[in-house]
Amino acid sequence: MTWKITNSDVSQPELLNMESIFALGNGYLGVRGNFEEGYGEQMTSIRGTYLNAFHDVIEVPYGEKLFAFPETQQKLVNNIDAQTVLIYFGEEEEPFRLDQGTFTNFQRTLHMDQGFSERSVHWTSPSGKEVRLTFRRLVSFTHRELFAIHLKLEPINFSGPVKIVSTLNGNVKNYTNPNDPRVGAGHAERMTVVDNGMRGQSSYVVDETMVSKMRAACVTRHQLTADAAITLDTKPGEIVYTAKFALNDTVEFTKFNVYTDTLRHGEGFLEQAFDLHERLSNLSFSDLLAEQTAYLNDYWKSADVIIQNDDQLQEGIRFNLYQLLQSAGRDKYSNIAAKGLSGEGYEGHYFWDTEIYMFPVFLMTQPELARRLLLYRYSILDDARARAREMGHRKGALFPWRTISGTECSSFFPSGTAQYHISADIAYSYVQYYLATQDRDFLLNYGAEVLIETARLWAEIGHEYNGAFHIDEVTGPDEYTCCVNNNYYTNAMAKHNLKWAAKSCAILKDYDPAGYQALCEKLGVTDDEIAAWEAAAAAMFLPYDEALGINPQDDTFLRKAVWDFANTPKENYPLLLHYHPLTIYRYQVCKQADTVLAHFLLEDEQSLETIRRSYDYYERITTHDSSLSSCIFSIMAAKIGNLDKAYEYFIETARLDLDNTHGNTKDGLHLANMGGTWMSIVYGFAGMRLKESGLSLTPAIPRDWEQYAFRLTFRDRLISVRIGKEDVNLELIEGEGIDIQLYGKTVTLDRDRAVSRPLATLELQI
Ligand code: BGC
Repeated sequence: MTWKITNSDVSQPELLNMESIFALGNGYLGVRGNFEEGYGEQMTSIRGTYLNAFHDVIEVPYGEKLFAFPETQQKLVNNIDAQTVLIYFGEEEEPFRLDQGTFTNFQRTLHMDQGFSERSVHWTSPSGKEVRLTFRRLVSFTHRELFAIHLKLEPINFSGPVKIVSTLNGNVKNYTNPNDPRVGAGHAERMTVVDNGMRGQSSYVVDETMVSKMRAACVTRHQLTADAAITLDTKPGEIVYTAKFALNDTVEFTKFNVYTDTLRHGEGFLEQAFDLHERLSNLSFSDLLAEQTAYLNDYWKSADVIIQNDDQLQEGIRFNLYQLLQSAGRDKYSNIAAKGLSGEGYEGHYFWDTEIYMFPVFLMTQPELARRLLLYRYSILDDARARAREMGHRKGALFPWRTISGTECSSFFPSGTAQYHISADIAYSYVQYYLATQDRDFLLNYGAEVLIETARLWAEIGHEYNGAFHIDEVTGPDEYTCCVNNNYYTNAMAKHNLKWAAKSCAILKDYDPAGYQALCEKLGVTDDEIAAWEAAAAAMFLPYDEALGINPQDDTFLRKAVWDFANTPKENYPLLLHYHPLTIYRYQVCKQADTVLAHFLLEDEQSLETIRRSYDYYERITTHDSSLSSCIFSIMAAKIGNLDKAYEYFIETARLDLDNTHGNTKDGLHLANMGGTWMSIVYGFAGMRLKESGLSLTPAIPRDWEQYAFRLTFRDRLISVRIGKEDVNLELIEGEGIDIQLYGKTVTLDRDRAVSRPLATLELQI
């Protein structure tokens, strides 16, 4: 059962949420789980099809616009709609719709092991015609442009004329909501149809964005197992396919849709869509299903996490891992949007969410995908350099807080551009990649350049004061505390960035002196500059409060009054929707993990006692209004030995979207949190860390679990980790023998023998 997500609720709010839950995607193409036939007249639907990174450019409206505020931003557009399939029964053409007639056995299923969704219903029309309809759909993992819908019609008490109307519609709009800052407020219409027509039995529509002038094509072809009279009609902006036939026996109908765009496929994008159709024309829907299953077998082989005895959790974890796979961009134009390809929240933008919350999952399960995510960042390095200049820095690169094509899209700088830490976060992920793969060529060709340019940013914005290196006027991850001096998280991450820029130079000098020399010449790096990074890292100011024995979030954080939590009604959360930002900034109140996150990513900077006291302090004042918070508190609760607390936070993450606990799943899934679920298990309960010393584990097991298991891909090895109530079992599944650390002791893993060790008691672990 835990490989399937099922649902049979057709009430309005639930339908909207399910559009996100049943969204299908492959990193390039994403389709929300809308009903082919639509809903009732009065009901709302966010009907969406998205091509990752395919965007329009819109003007940012400002009341007052100051220097270097972004003038334009990118917006993921809702693309050509191929979802519609209408079915009419009998001479009087009664339309199949769930708000008309009656139905039983309605169920939707997402098959996470086979890569398709299914919707089946036994429907009785208002005049009593009974049929069984089963829709199956897939977005192919192996043919990235392909979205297919398969319909099976089974007559129950009815035989007679049936009409299927399938449309390809280029008249599409984006969803807007002016009252929620997390959703686009305006600019609904971004696409115009520039061409539509038929070629042979195929229909096509070409749309163009208004300003960026990107074009997308969808070419559709249909297959029907009945003898039918078929027509194709051109209407304004759409092509309508109609098939009329007699339903006596089961009939199958398949709609194959191929999407291409100018961003990936260049000027010949429409021809390429036709060519692709041609090439795929001998594949049936079941062939495609077989390919999906094979692809997913591979994925689950390295990515699955197994929790014994808890189906609810098991389902949640698999769902999150499945959605991560569906969302990750695989080319240099795209990355992982905050909502993946499942909705329009945050307008399809990429944030630090990728590097800190999702990249680790791919790094340790699908390193090739992780590498591609890094290549996207490399591809926008020039934009980051340009942004640094625009912001007044003579050197270095400042990555945009939110973007699609590389330029800053954040119009509210206090919790946007001011989050300079994103540059250090990206640098951190390059270092993690190096530690997990030891790929020096990648470091030479891409990583070092990113590390050097981001280190330069810190050298630029920081300064020496009283013998320490300070960074002023930035915002850390906590968006309820903005524009501060010496944010602990930012300073600690900048220190790591500076240190690793210097370290990667040393590694490369040794590995490939000529290549290193060429890199230094290209970027103008000198030994003096490297020494300055090292000095800045060594002198980095990391705020510490002697009285409390904690790391304050910034220079003035502890001076502020604590938010009046006791008198804040429940319905006022999330605070950002109920209080002016200044009101929030004046208090000690955190939206999400900030210092606590720094203590996770860079745990060796502080003693365990400081980490523990800081955790206790920040826990009391953190609202977790951001879905990026609970997983970090879970990991850190596990680190300080409070497994019950770790478990409580973990539960928050595992089914956040399945149970819509943040109330906005309709706008798309919370992808960072989904990565956070995996991290809570692997970094939290199992205590995995990746450092220069290698891979280490300090496993513990939550009280309610009998056993849990996962796999790690590390330096070309596949390692299986199984943790029970009494023991830890490690096995090398693929690759050559390797040493890892278990509870601080070296364990050698070889192919021919599994290793079993007693589970350490908590006291021993910390
Ligand atoms: C969080 C940010 C996050 C963004 C996109 C905001 O609510 O505070 O940390 O990057 O959502 O997920």
